[in-house]
Amino acid sequence: MLDRREFLKLAATLSTAFGITNLPEPVSAALKKLDPKSIPKLIYLQGQSCTGCSISLLQAESPSAATMITKYSQLAFHADLSAISGKKALELIDSFISGQAGEYILAVEGAIPYKKPEACMIGHKTFAQHLEEASRTMTAAVAIGACACDGGIPSAEGNLTGAIGLKEFYAKKNIEKLVVNIRGCSVHPDWVWHTIVHLVKIGLPDLTETGSPSLFFSKNVHENCPRYHDFQQEIFAKKLGDKGCLFKLGCLGPQTDADCPSRWWNSGQTWCIDANAPCIGCASPLFAKKRDLPFYRIASQG
Ligand code: SF4
Ligand code: SF4
Repeated sequence: MLDRREFLKLAATLSTAFGITNLPEPVSAALKKLDPKSIPKLIYLQGQSCTGCSISLLQAESPSAATMITKYSQLAFHADLSAISGKKALELIDSFISGQAGEYILAVEGAIPYKKPEACMIGHKTFAQHLEEASRTMTAAVAIGACACDGGIPSAEGNLTGAIGLKEFYAKKNIEKLVVNIRGCSVHPDWVWHTIVHLVKIGLPDLTETGSPSLFFSKNVHENCPRYHDFQQEIFAKKLGDKGCLFKLGCLGPQTDADCPSRWWNSGQTWCIDANAPCIGCASPLFAKKRDLPFYRIASQG
């Protein structure tokens, strides 16, 4: 657990690392409402998701997930983590969404079934209704994971429910609200927690063109890959486990911007290409949208 001094040090480090940008309207107005003396609550709702991002968030190390949840982000509700459930949980969600419980940041995991809203219910209301109503009272939203950002796996070819991401959902409803996209399938815990710390203590971090924090999502995986030299020398792996660049095995590093080559995963123990697995572009807005996603290939097609 960090004490107050350690946390302020972390916040100062993050402040330097992220940089503070000029806030665009209506975002600045929304963020100015934040009271610096109190940390707004975080309401975490899940739609069409596998809960993988939530599991990943619990792997946070510095600060730990427990510290983030209890001390710095004030997680008021999460379906998997909160002790509260049933009617009481619905009342709690309603108290925030109606604006009675004070300021809050909405964290969203999972896609929105736009064509079949009843495919995803929280209590007696559809997930989509909750999101629409929350847009009137929340300070900002953080879309967590590929599904919440762009539809992800639920929006892959076929897409029977018309799954879309939060930004697209709000655009279709003509709702103008700040949505910070943190892509990944699943997300890296640092990407989420550090963004939330930044939002509540410092302000809006610099964002890429696709609405993701630049600190994590501005560098290309391919250009920073330790196998880039192999790519240039045309030394390609022919099968999984071979040495060499994984491009011919479907690696989507060239179309993906994320800091995985320097951040690594699982507390710095490994990351996809270090584990001999091609990058599947999980942090790209195009994730699962195109047929070149290695998931879709069958063995006979190579
Ligand atoms: S393994 Fe992938 S990311 Fe690395 S150099 Fe090859 S194509 Fe690029
Ligand atoms: S290397 Fe690619 S597939 Fe792996 S976590 Fe990073 S963006 Fe996702």
